[in-house]
Amino acid sequence: METQNKLEKIVALCKRRGFIFPGSDIYGGLKGTWDYGPLGSELKFNIKQAWWNQVVKSHENIFGVQAAIMMNPKVWEGSGHTTTFNDPLVECKVCHERFRADNEEEIKAHGEMHAKKKEKVEWTEPKTFNLLVEARLGVVEGEKSLVYLRGEITAGVHVNFKNVVDSMHPKMPFGIAQIGKAFRNEINPGNFTYRSREFEQAELQWYIKPDQAEWEKWFSYWKEQRMNWFLGLGMTKDKIRFRQQEKSELAHYAREAWDIEYETPFGWKESEGIHDRKDWDLSRHSQFSGQDLSYLDPETNERYIPWVIETSAGVDRSLLFFLLDAYTEEDERIVLKLNPKIAPYKVAVFPLLKNKPELVEKARSVYNELKKHFNVAWDDRGNIGKRYFSQDEIGTPFCVTIDFDTLGEDGSDKKDTVTIRDRDTMKQERIAISELKAYIQKSLE
Ligand code: ATP
Repeated sequence: METQNKLEKIVALCKRRGFIFPGSDIYGGLKGTWDYGPLGSELKFNIKQAWWNQVVKSHENIFGVQAAIMMNPKVWEGSGHTTTFNDPLVECKVCHERFRADNEEEIKAHGEMHAKKKEKVEWTEPKTFNLLVEARLGVVEGEKSLVYLRGEITAGVHVNFKNVVDSMHPKMPFGIAQIGKAFRNEINPGNFTYRSREFEQAELQWYIKPDQAEWEKWFSYWKEQRMNWFLGLGMTKDKIRFRQQEKSELAHYAREAWDIEYETPFGWKESEGIHDRKDWDLSRHSQFSGQDLSYLDPETNERYIPWVIETSAGVDRSLLFFLLDAYTEEDERIVLKLNPKIAPYKVAVFPLLKNKPELVEKARSVYNELKKHFNVAWDDRGNIGKRYFSQDEIGTPFCVTIDFDTLGEDGSDKKDTVTIRDRDTMKQERIAISELKAYIQKSLE
């Protein structure tokens, strides 16, 4: 099962069940873009909320921002992206397909593909390829100005450093967090959403005093926090690890970087990075904007440019890795064993039969009550077994069936109770309707 095949099954499931569709599907797609459907949007929203809860809500000194995607082009000169946000590109001289020169696996596979056809592959010399996506802004043709769609969401935080300090008066250390879209002209998008040209990031910039002991303390704190986030959401422990980036891999701004990687069917792959950015960003933006971005420490009266520790997560990659981790084939069924906190629906409600108005009416009242608190699915198609399997496949942790006992027919002593069935154990229990909310709530704590 641990083969590329698993990825193909997930791609198919995502389309069939409304998680993720190819972008611009009816027009034949647009390479490197994906659209999230009804269930994918819920899952993504829940993942972002879980991130926001851990990073922003559970810390006193972390503030959120939502910066514009299009920024003054000078920002990208300041951040170094116009000159150094590059990948090495090589072109196959036989078929003119282009690859990242540092992607040894794909280069090797491409060579083998040609070798099978008795062709000898030859490559052009690597040239640098800038990943920033350009757009033109303005209403007069010929006077439109060049802007970039942000290549990472980080800059939008650093350019607001002074605004946040002046408006919120934070004490060191403090953080600014953001979730939003980023765009990269990736040479070779692929592996489903893993490498896309439009994707979403969730980032924290954690500002500290420029001091080595402080740095060590906070760098290990954030590494641990972020790893615990994945584990707390049920990621399999031996499928997730840290890997320190080699010096040659480091981005232009980074002094040290650790990736959190997940073992996918296509190898160990980066889900997020924890980066030591020191004072790169604030110094550069000070220099290029001419604004003083130093911080006056109210406790010591010292003025300094803070150092930055960044945690930079890919929302789409986390989502893909949660799907890979949750996907299980058991006997006759496919189950997404998603943690209830991120599952698109928390519970599904079924009337035993759809042609019995009393059952439907009672089931509707249970559905409406639960819907005040959770995202709830309604299903009255086919038989109960099919409905269970259908919910298993989209990761709904609980299914509730309203039957004749619920109505208290024939003097049943089970009036106002329902059957609740657990996705993972498939066990069924009989509980009172009045206990349902607390029962489901417990799984979310
Ligand atoms: P890679 O080496 O895979 O290209 P990166 O090291 O350039 O990634 P960062 O610039 O550190 O990535 O971006 C932070 C996070 O943003 C990554 O860990 C990843 O989760 C996400 N990300 C980056 N590029 C993409 C992409 N093309 N598609 C989807 N997510 C991405």
